[in-house]
Amino acid sequence: MSTPLLRVEGLRVAYGHVEAVQGIDFEVNAGEIRTLVGANGAGKSTTLLALSGLVRPTAGSIVFDGEELRRLPTHQIVERGLVQVAEGRAILTTLTVRENLELGAYRRRDRAGVADDLERVLALFPRLAERIDGMAGNLSGGEQQMLAIARALLAKPRILLLDEPSMGLAPIVVQEIFATLRRINAEGLTIFLVEQNVRQALKVASHGYVLETGRIVLSKPSAELLGDPQVVAAYLGG
Ligand code: ATP
Repeated sequence: MSTPLLRVEGLRVAYGHVEAVQGIDFEVNAGEIRTLVGANGAGKSTTLLALSGLVRPTAGSIVFDGEELRRLPTHQIVERGLVQVAEGRAILTTLTVRENLELGAYRRRDRAGVADDLERVLALFPRLAERIDGMAGNLSGGEQQMLAIARALLAKPRILLLDEPSMGLAPIVVQEIFATLRRINAEGLTIFLVEQNVRQALKVASHGYVLETGRIVLSKPSAELLGDPQVVAAYLGG
């Protein structure tokens, strides 16, 4: 067995006396999409924030490509290739689409590489290409989510972390977002996806983890989770 690209062990995160993440283990192999699903407040966002160094774990390890990241500052984590698309999209609405995209690449020094990646990303998101000089605030919710993903791609991720990309979007737009993730993954990018839309997340991922009040209660191939009576009853409206 090859070692996973990302391995998290015994991760704990507390906000004061509230332990939001209570010792969880998971891993993501290079080239895979894995998902962490669960209800509102289960601790999904907290887990992602810990991976990016935006909240500090009280225990555990986060090993990425053989290196412990737990104590690195966020910008160094991003430089290693762990790039997060934040929940709520965090688009700068008074800047243009192009300016938002450029922000994704602001730490990179390889200007030629950035230009190539911009071209590749615009080919992936033709609607962003059409609106490249328009204000990001004039984009629809789905387009803003696409922009957030595109911006993250310009930071040259080796693993893309997404926090509920389907949030607040119409079902047809959600389908589009997930189809895009599939395409990005087919091009070789590893993805770790956090979602409340359990059905869609399990359809796109190869393996799923179910998080309930800070603990992983199930870890299985997605196909098995989609047929698991406990998952169907709790998350799939069965
Ligand atoms: P959501 O889908 O609502 O984002 P989630 O699964 O991502 O849910 P978290 O946001 O990680 O869950 O929250 C986990 C727990 O930690 C919740 O009980 C939440 O109230 C608590 N929590 C989250 N952020 C903070 C904070 N900044 N201060 C105190 N408690 C917090």
